[in-house]
Amino acid sequence: MATCPGSTMNRIDVFWHEGMLKHYTGNGVFDTGIDPGFLDVLEKHPENSDRVRNMVSILKRGPISPFVSWHPGRPATIPELLSFHAPEYINKLVETDKGGEKMLCAGTFLNPGSWDAALLAAGTTLSAMKHVLDGHGKVAYALVRPPGHHAQPTQADGYCFLNNAGLAVQLALESGCRKVAVIDIDVHYGNGTAEGFYRSNKVLTISLHMNHGSWGPSHPQNGSVAELGEGEGYGYNLNVPLPNGTGDRGYIHAFNELVAPSIKKFEPDMIVLVIGQDSSAFDPNGRQCLTMEGYREIGQIVRNLATRHSGGRLLIVQEGGYHVTYSAYCLHATLEGVLNLPQPLLPDPIAYYPEDEAFSVKVIEAIISYLKDEVPFWRTA
Ligand SMILES: [Zn+2]
Repeated sequence: MATCPGSTMNRIDVFWHEGMLKHYTGNGVFDTGIDPGFLDVLEKHPENSDRVRNMVSILKRGPISPFVSWHPGRPATIPELLSFHAPEYINKLVETDKGGEKMLCAGTFLNPGSWDAALLAAGTTLSAMKHVLDGHGKVAYALVRPPGHHAQPTQADGYCFLNNAGLAVQLALESGCRKVAVIDIDVHYGNGTAEGFYRSNKVLTISLHMNHGSWGPSHPQNGSVAELGEGEGYGYNLNVPLPNGTGDRGYIHAFNELVAPSIKKFEPDMIVLVIGQDSSAFDPNGRQCLTMEGYREIGQIVRNLATRHSGGRLLIVQEGGYHVTYSAYCLHATLEGVLNLPQPLLPDPIAYYPEDEAFSVKVIEAIISYLKDEVPFWRTA
């Protein structure tokens, strides 16, 4: 594969619209929006525009910039949203937007400007998917906020209103793709995407996440290995809850032994990589301890899976990632991996935690053994 800068063979088409910065999430104690009255300094909500401004700037001015081609985003239309979401839920969001500020569930604020940003995130992700479907590029990245993977067909959750990746998957299916695989490495369970395709055998959803369980009425799913899908979709939702502190080696072990074989058995004609840098070692919202090296290797593995199984077609969708500087670095590393570059372009400025892979490897082996017992397509060697 050619790796010369700007080559159409090896470039990433990034879709972005600055209107997404207008989603204002407020200040408080972390993500609560609450001022307890006894703190001198409150902090920005973790899902703030600064994190995404740094992701944009590192791709524009970092060493990866020659490999990046920029494309404009656009708002989704209401009918487009109905491929994944229920009309009653969308009507509720439209009405809530007219009413001004509102917290839809814990940490999830629909403020003036938020709905327009959510429509831009959904539409921009659809544009990125369409770009790949139309053959204008092989690898597209939707750099979007608010995030989407917790948004269920009828429910906002975890800073998410519209399921950007889920909408893109629906577009792929409606455009003739037979099977789509979604690999979600955000540190939280991609419960919204899983819920949307829980009864489908056309979409394989794989989520690697912290073992955080349910966090309330907006997020009833546990993300456990036993949540395998239902009906025709049984076995097509693979949850990989990983122990805290899993780290680079544990994630790579899970990718090599569990994710890659699943993709090989499923044979998708499109792969969607859902990324959140909140699985990094320094994220305030996660405990999984990935470093740039791990993200780089994951990017490389997924690119190779796309080359082998989906004709190279890969859509990458941005989700969480709340450390304002390190998230940008980890994104840079992930995309370096996706580009299959022979050498890292950017050194890791802060990785210094030692890793202990012994426990995570045991957990991953147990998950594989469970899948072999329970999931039909895992039974064959
Ligand atoms: Zn997350």
